[in-house]
Amino acid sequence: MRGVATAVKTFRYRLYPTRPQEAAMFETLRLTRTLYNAGLEQRREAYRKHGKTLSAYDQQKELTALKEACPEYSGVYSHVLQDVFDRLDRAYKSFFSRVNKGAKRAGFPRFKGRDRWDSFKFKQCWDNKKDDWTTCGKPVDEGRRINVPKIGAVKVKLHRPLEGKPKSVQIVLDVDQWYAVYTCEVTGQTLPETGSSVGVDVGTTWFAITSDGEFVDNPRYLKSSLKKLRVQQRRVARRGKGKNRRRKAVQIVAKTHRKIRRQRLDFHHKTARGLVNEHDLIAHEELKVGNMVKSNLARSISDVGWASFFLILSSKAAEAGRKVVAVNPMYTSQQCSKCGHTCRENRISQARFVCVGCGWAENADLNAAKNILQRARILWPSGVNESGGSHVVA
Ligand SMILES: [Zn+2]
Repeated sequence: MRGVATAVKTFRYRLYPTRPQEAAMFETLRLTRTLYNAGLEQRREAYRKHGKTLSAYDQQKELTALKEACPEYSGVYSHVLQDVFDRLDRAYKSFFSRVNKGAKRAGFPRFKGRDRWDSFKFKQCWDNKKDDWTTCGKPVDEGRRINVPKIGAVKVKLHRPLEGKPKSVQIVLDVDQWYAVYTCEVTGQTLPETGSSVGVDVGTTWFAITSDGEFVDNPRYLKSSLKKLRVQQRRVARRGKGKNRRRKAVQIVAKTHRKIRRQRLDFHHKTARGLVNEHDLIAHEELKVGNMVKSNLARSISDVGWASFFLILSSKAAEAGRKVVAVNPMYTSQQCSKCGHTCRENRISQARFVCVGCGWAENADLNAAKNILQRARILWPSGVNESGGSHVVA
């Protein structure tokens, strides 16, 4: 049976600004970053002095006064300024949700340095009343440029068409390249049901192991890029601070990071596509990102990677009418998938699982993947329900 599903998709296009346009974009980055930091300071002060928690709305109300006091802010589109406070609000909300979940290092919202601020956002691309584009992000000049308010009609490479209804557009600086990232609401036909469900265990040795016994390796080109990165980082460390040669070395590192990010993204898309095509229900462990182990760098890098993979998976699943379930990760590696007996002694090594209770022996990660699927099946016995999409089960 096929149905109709709505999903949120992002579309990313390379921009080619002129010199003055690029200068205006850098200036917008500077002003929005300054505003973010001032907004954070204001929130902290309000709390310290009056015990009051400011909302994004409280802060947005002051924008008119700000523009009078600092006329340079008139050069930035009002929605872009409003979005800065929405972003601050989200940073606070996710901080509090991490605290409520009992995260050890909840990470209070931080002031943003130049290296930590690379985008600004136009939050409304579509006018629902007129059912047409607003001026924000609208393709003009037969799709050769897009309209960026206060900056101009910026040259763009629309390498694939936008789909669905555009909601917002973000202008992003990626090392030395600019991009327009559209968020669109896409409605389309779901995929036909396959009657299959799968549990996915993500690991460090393998990228993922499925309950069907499929071992998904990390791609080799990713490994070789990581090796290259290590060499380049050592070069940066050798070069003295504040020198031109060092700055160049830092830029090379940033570009390798970008390459790795793109390779990983591509790999995530392909892996998620495969899972979504084959299964009605896909189960994985809920990630405890707030509790990332500080000492284990490889592990924490992987955690970040998995979070982005699960986001891609959820988005593709929603569009296809598939269900993604995040289950409680407690004891998935110590529980026997055959008899349910749970104890530490079952896990005789990193790779091997032998049940003390019933003698069941299996690859430890495969056993975990089967547990993950079983936990999801308890919650969604019929596989998929009509709504589709992603569910987190605590
Ligand atoms: Zn057992």
